Amino acid sequence: MRLFKRMLKILGLVIGTLVLAVVVLLAVTLMGRRPIVDGYEVNGIRVIKDSTVTVGVLSLGEREVALIDTGNDDTGKAILAELSRRQLGPEAVKTILLTHGHPDHMAGVHLFPRAQVLALTSEIPLIEGRTSLQGPLRFFFRRHPTGIRVTRALGDGERVTLGRLVLRVFAIPGHSPGCAAYLVSDVLFLGDSADATKEGRLRGAPWLFSDSQAQNRASLVQLAERLVREKVTVKALVLSHSGALSEGLAPLTDFHN
Ligand SMILES: [Zn+2]
Repeated sequence: MRLFKRMLKILGLVIGTLVLAVVVLLAVTLMGRRPIVDGYEVNGIRVIKDSTVTVGVLSLGEREVALIDTGNDDTGKAILAELSRRQLGPEAVKTILLTHGHPDHMAGVHLFPRAQVLALTSEIPLIEGRTSLQGPLRFFFRRHPTGIRVTRALGDGERVTLGRLVLRVFAIPGHSPGCAAYLVSDVLFLGDSADATKEGRLRGAPWLFSDSQAQNRASLVQLAERLVREKVTVKALVLSHSGALSEGLAPLTDFHN
């Protein structure tokens, strides 16, 4: 009996330590982020807040929009409210561009069955649920079909015409295998591949939620070099889990591996 009690005590201690470690890890991961501003707007691109993530809303014409990611809320409350603000319904969403295949960016896809869904080829198995997550997240999520079908596979460097807009696609693997950055109207969407700090610096994706931090950081450095080399104009950086940065490309070129 005494041995049993002692074993229970040790087990309690181990579980308590593990819970504490996870809480500390989460706090360190999430602390210091610049808060998301709901309704941030630059060059006609609007960024809305859906619980803990951002969704980009691009106006393609009179009554047509494209979304960059679809948020964490499967009822799509924030997205539908934004459409309603424009006096539009869900049918106005013609295109969904996914930055990557983590569930908190794809919860609203099912609300827009008429929209084409675009993503980098290397991310499609993860988006459709045909492959498992990598990195520490694999211990929390099992592989399962998501019901999402990517209707157009994208390649690195591709230009996509969406109504009156032309969007460029960049592969920035590391957070997940086929993470994409999208550049449209001089606004660069980086998804989860980077966060903005309260001080306005850029930092790479957190270890806890990423496949490879080293690859993520190398991808960010390479993207900065590429955009500088190509003399691409960037006015703002939009991140998924933190507020946007309006200092042009500087926060990305200042980022060091
Ligand atoms: Zn992610």
